[in-house]
Amino acid sequence: MATVAKPDKQLAFVVDLNKCIGCQTCTVACKRLWTSKAGEEHVYWRNVETRPGKGYPRNWDQDGGGYENGELKVGREPTLGDYGIPYEFAYEKRLFEGRKGRVRPEPASGSRSSASWAPNYDEEQGAGDYPNNYFYLPRHCNHCSKPACLDACPNDAIYKRPEDGVVLVDKTMCKASRKCIRACPYDKAFFNTSEQRAVKCIGCYPRIEKAVAPACVAQCAGRAMHVGFLEDPRSSVHKLTEVWKVALPLHAEKGTGPNVFYVPPVLGPMQEDADGNLRTEQKIPVDYLVRLFGSDVRRVLDTLHEERGRRLNGKSSELIEILIGRRFADLAGSLT
Ligand code: SF4
Ligand code: SF4
Ligand code: SF4
Repeated sequence: MATVAKPDKQLAFVVDLNKCIGCQTCTVACKRLWTSKAGEEHVYWRNVETRPGKGYPRNWDQDGGGYENGELKVGREPTLGDYGIPYEFAYEKRLFEGRKGRVRPEPASGSRSSASWAPNYDEEQGAGDYPNNYFYLPRHCNHCSKPACLDACPNDAIYKRPEDGVVLVDKTMCKASRKCIRACPYDKAFFNTSEQRAVKCIGCYPRIEKAVAPACVAQCAGRAMHVGFLEDPRSSVHKLTEVWKVALPLHAEKGTGPNVFYVPPVLGPMQEDADGNLRTEQKIPVDYLVRLFGSDVRRVLDTLHEERGRRLNGKSSELIEILIGRRFADLAGSLT
């Protein structure tokens, strides 16, 4: 197993799932900035998926990878069909034929009209056990403390930067073994089919080096993202993960030590009975959140309810102030 030195500082992200509105601005910002090259049509370093749902790539959480009992487990590589390519919508119909009622946006007729999957399929076309829009789950590379992608690469093409903990692929070293793609339990290492090499989120390191926040954070319309260095006691990522301990990693059981953390959704709508009356149970099943974030999520939900209650009763709450993030600097600290 590769030994990865602890970086001097670790870049980390916190996503507040109570504030993400699923607008995909972060997705588009990242796509336009970094992955609009040939061979990367299916690649979204950043994506926002509707949960409960299958995510992007489809059923990524069942592809294996990561560690079991400390042993690296190389899993399955998603197919191009699992990633899907976004289809065009029938905008004419949507914009001009809706007089008699709502017109649901549908894929335009043509080669992609029969698409059975796309990166945002659960939101656009999905149906099933759950109605859509329970909550949105933004995802990008976790810049893990124990990166399975790095460990799996037989060519030492992946490294973790000592100055900020960002995990990068050295494209001059990549020999297209694709093992990193199979080893990442989050399916966040990808393959450029034109250049025949692995690609992944670069943590916007050229921006970090200039003390500018990553594009997905800077463009976030819901102000749902926090970024900073875990070791910086003034940063909101430090306060949310280390002090208030209300931000949890996704699927920590995969063993890679993720550095993207989530404040679980506590503001979900309540269930309705057949007559449309509200019940006391939330629509977002707590058991489902436990599957994503572990059993500690129950403690976090209690803390969030408690602090929210304080504010609703006119008392102050440092936690709620951090989560509100009135100024961008409150979310991004030294990265502006
Ligand atoms: Fe590697 Fe995946 Fe961790 Fe990113 S999330 S560092 S691609 S193992
Ligand atoms: Fe994309 Fe930069 Fe966000 Fe990574 S940190 S997902 S490269 S915008
Ligand atoms: Fe959510 Fe922000 Fe991305 Fe919009 S830009 S989908 S609010 S994380």
